[in-house]
Amino acid sequence: MHNEHVYVGLGSNQGDSAQTLHCALTAMNALPDTRLLKQSSLYASSPMGPKDQPDFVNAVALLETTMPALSFLHQLQTIELNHGRQRKAERWGPRTLDLDILLFGNQQFDSAELTVPHSGLSEREFVLVPLFEIAPTMIMPDGKPLAAWVAKCSLEGLRRLRPSNQR
Ligand code: AMP
Repeated sequence: MHNEHVYVGLGSNQGDSAQTLHCALTAMNALPDTRLLKQSSLYASSPMGPKDQPDFVNAVALLETTMPALSFLHQLQTIELNHGRQRKAERWGPRTLDLDILLFGNQQFDSAELTVPHSGLSEREFVLVPLFEIAPTMIMPDGKPLAAWVAKCSLEGLRRLRPSNQR
C-alpha cells in the first residue's frame, strides 16, 4: 500500500480549544491505516472575517496514511462532527473544530469538495508558521522554500502558546 505524507491544519475558537485540538490529534492518530508523525505547538490567532468572536487556536499536524484523499477528508469531517461542529456555520464564523487538508503528498485536487494544496495555504500565517515549525526545509508546490512564504506573511495577531503535547 502506498503511504502518503499528509499535512492537516487544525483550528478551533469555541469551548476549550486546546483540549479540542488535543482530542482531534488523538482521533486522527487512531484513524485506520493512519499514523500521527509530528505536531506543531499551539498558536493563538486573531479571527479572519467577523472580529466579534474569540481568537482561534491553531496547529498543524503531519500524518502518514494509505487512505485515498477523499476517504481521508470524510474521516476528518466525522471527527469535526464528533466535536460538535455545525457544518452550516457562517463562513469564517466561530467553530468548535476545523480540519483542513493542506497537502496530500504531491497529489493535487481541484473540486469544491477537495482542493489540495489548500486554497488558503499561501497567505495564512496561522497555517504557514506552524507548518514551518514541523517542516522547516519544505519546498512548496510552486518550487519555492516554505521559509520564503513565511518571510512574506504578516505575523501580527499570531502568538505561539505551547507545544501541543503539553496541556
Ligand atoms: P470549511 O467550512 O471552511 O471547513 O469548508 C468545508 C468545505 O470545504 C467542505 O465541504 C470540504 O469538502 C471543502 N474542502 C475543499 N478542499 C478542502 C480541503 N483541502 N480540506 C478540507 N476541506 C476542503
